[in-house]
Amino acid sequence: MNDFSSSLVNPIEVARPAPRRSRQARVVWGQRVVKIGGDAPVCVQSMTNTDTVDVIGTAIQVKELAIAGSEMVRITVNTPEAAEAVPHIREQLDRMGIDVPLVGDFHYNGHRLLTDYPECAKTLSKYRINPGNVGKGDKRDKQFAQMIEAALKYDKVVRIGVNWGSLDQELMASLMDDNARRAQPWTTQQVMYQALINSALESAQAARELGMAPEQIILSCKVSGVQDLISVYRGLAQRCDYPLHLGLTEAGMGTKGTVASAAALSVLMQEGIGDTIRVSLTPQPGESRTQEVVVALEILQALGLRTFVPSVTACPGCGRTTSTTFQELAKQIDDFLRAQMPVWRVKYPGVENMKVAVMGCIVNGPGESKHADIGISLPGTGEAPAAPVFIDGEKALTLRGDRIADDFQKLVQDYIDRRFGAAVQA
Ligand code: SF4
Repeated sequence: MNDFSSSLVNPIEVARPAPRRSRQARVVWGQRVVKIGGDAPVCVQSMTNTDTVDVIGTAIQVKELAIAGSEMVRITVNTPEAAEAVPHIREQLDRMGIDVPLVGDFHYNGHRLLTDYPECAKTLSKYRINPGNVGKGDKRDKQFAQMIEAALKYDKVVRIGVNWGSLDQELMASLMDDNARRAQPWTTQQVMYQALINSALESAQAARELGMAPEQIILSCKVSGVQDLISVYRGLAQRCDYPLHLGLTEAGMGTKGTVASAAALSVLMQEGIGDTIRVSLTPQPGESRTQEVVVALEILQALGLRTFVPSVTACPGCGRTTSTTFQELAKQIDDFLRAQMPVWRVKYPGVENMKVAVMGCIVNGPGESKHADIGISLPGTGEAPAAPVFIDGEKALTLRGDRIADDFQKLVQDYIDRRFGAAVQA
């Protein structure tokens, strides 16, 4: 027979993410300061997919991403025309009251663009430099130095962002040669991990030698495989204390991209690795670019690292609830809460911590609803057509009729007014 007595002496440890140990970088635009690393909350960022030359289109998408919760937005800066457009995008955003810092994504010609377009260099709050794409042979160091000099001149933070799709092939070849001389050679995969990490760290060291403070440097080493990402970031985090930008590159579309990103980022953040995240989703046709921000926020909220929107607990439904009523109500409440958040964030401080339950029947409905701040247990198949509502753990009233959804939404709004509006009036 099992002995359960030891459970009385050794309580189960409460799981929580390990503390992060990185330095802190500060990305600034005007009065807005986004802290990355150290004791700052894990920061969410995103990237536009508009043509940067389209000033209005890009500014509108940046605004959408910022309103969705992105705390920095990266834009492609790939041509002289794009570099020229950057200050105009910034002006549009400032006019719209959007102070989200802009990050410039540079490949191949960043050294020229940052030198030839000083207004672009000044307007961007952070530069992303890909060491695999700064130049080849003897041009590499010179062009890298030009980008770092621009960052020093305008007091900007840089992200040295390595990506396995554009890994420095000279470095990889040299590590493969070294590996061939090992008595017990590593696998090609292990050499590739090493090449990614070395590329980031060697570039960071070169930036330091050019005069950058460690607090001006953020690193990333993105790959598209979940286990590869976990391996690489564990290795990187062991070898430095720079803030780390975390993301599964080319995660893919829809459910696949969402699940793969959540799986990889969750494992690492639970270990205290990762100071800022991006979810690189390919939008489904017609899908908003903001979906990548929604997923990033959900990952952080699910891990208990941050809270952004009130959470809706809903059961999956089963044979006890064969109508779609409860699915529709769960969606209506979830959509309602999300749609209101840009206003509520300011009007009702703390509302993001609220918990709402929408449950399908009597089996777990009342219990789960009592755990929520406000919850409803809908009638399952064959149950009396009545929906008890629980507020702060107590049964408050019962809804009936064909307006249950609207009545419950109104109760949620009244609850928020009462509980979180009071904090503003006090
Ligand atoms: S609460 Fe009821 S309807 Fe929902 S999953 Fe459980 S048994 Fe099924």
